Amino acid sequence: MPIPVRKRDDDTSTTIAEALSEHGVTRRQFLQFCTAMSATLALPGLFVPRIASALEQAKRPTLVWMEFQECCGNIEAFLRAANPTVSDIILDIISLDYNETIMAASGQQAHEALAKVVKEQKGSYIAAVEGSIPLKQGGIHCCIGGRTALELAREVCGNALTTIAVGSCAAFGGVPAASPNPTGAVGVKDAVSGIKLINLPGCPANTDNITATLVHYLVFNKLPETDRFGRPLFAYGKRIHDNCERRSHFDSGQYVEQWGDMAHRQGHCLYKMGCKGPETFHNCPSQRYNQRVSWPVAAGHGCVGCSEPQFWDTMAPYYHRLPHVPGFGIEHTADKIGAGLAIGTAAAFAAHGVISALRKDDKSEGTRGEKHGEDRDRPDNADRRPPED
Ligand code: SF4
Repeated sequence: MPIPVRKRDDDTSTTIAEALSEHGVTRRQFLQFCTAMSATLALPGLFVPRIASALEQAKRPTLVWMEFQECCGNIEAFLRAANPTVSDIILDIISLDYNETIMAASGQQAHEALAKVVKEQKGSYIAAVEGSIPLKQGGIHCCIGGRTALELAREVCGNALTTIAVGSCAAFGGVPAASPNPTGAVGVKDAVSGIKLINLPGCPANTDNITATLVHYLVFNKLPETDRFGRPLFAYGKRIHDNCERRSHFDSGQYVEQWGDMAHRQGHCLYKMGCKGPETFHNCPSQRYNQRVSWPVAAGHGCVGCSEPQFWDTMAPYYHRLPHVPGFGIEHTADKIGAGLAIGTAAAFAAHGVISALRKDDKSEGTRGEKHGEDRDRPDNADRRPPED
């Protein structure tokens, strides 16, 4: 049965319930969506009616989505959203008024659309930023319509109700910020100060987490609680390792030793192949990607830690096992682990010049493991279990 349509206050003010009804979304489908969002937000089932009620009353928020130094991977993932479908998100849940990749307008018309939102909806629209922002040479490395990404971000994010940094580049600088960072790329937080911001890193960010963040705002009128990196705890509060489908093999000491070996074909643990799941906080194992079909570890590749700050520098070499991880144990929270990892991250940056130099020869690929006596190719590491705390 369709959701009853209420009278609108005016022509431009549409509640989400009205929009859903007008697009043929049934009550059952709506409640399924609310249930899925409740699960993504890690809320108990009793919150489903509250989410449904809040969303029925809520006005559709306006979203402007800007793309700077990036590969369009996040908007591509967004276009392939399955829960709900992208048309549900764009047409029903939010009003996407600006995005360079998918909007029909171009050139001057597009710029005018963005300026209109900033002017007429000051303080009430949501800004999403994809990609890093270059600071060097006055920001000339990324210009749109003759204005630098820095100028645009300051204006658009500075006037927004809140800003969502979508993907690792927008959150932490990502690949463009990898050493030696020729453009001086930084995340939104380091480019625009004093704004309300939430980071949704990942390469790409998971669309369910983007939607759930918006839903949280609509239901509770505030952004979700975050860790010290500005990531919402509902999505980044647990390590990949905590919920990984290969975890039983890790606990049983069943590891892949070579790509394509029998253990690999049988789905054993990828720890010895360099999986960074024990150091990476993200809900990939539960939310997955590509219409929830799969995620990297399920597809047979170790986690590369893409939701962690500066993962391109600090998580390499990707194919060598992690050294000793502080605070190993599923009971540890992101902040407890993060305090330990921060030391490792800082040390990695300090050592980066050395590591970059070493990478010039083959020995560098083993630097991280050898330092801890854990090079997986060495005979004295042929044991079946990694060191425990
Ligand atoms: S090390 Fe990687 S593959 Fe193995 S259980 Fe942990 S997250 Fe999964």
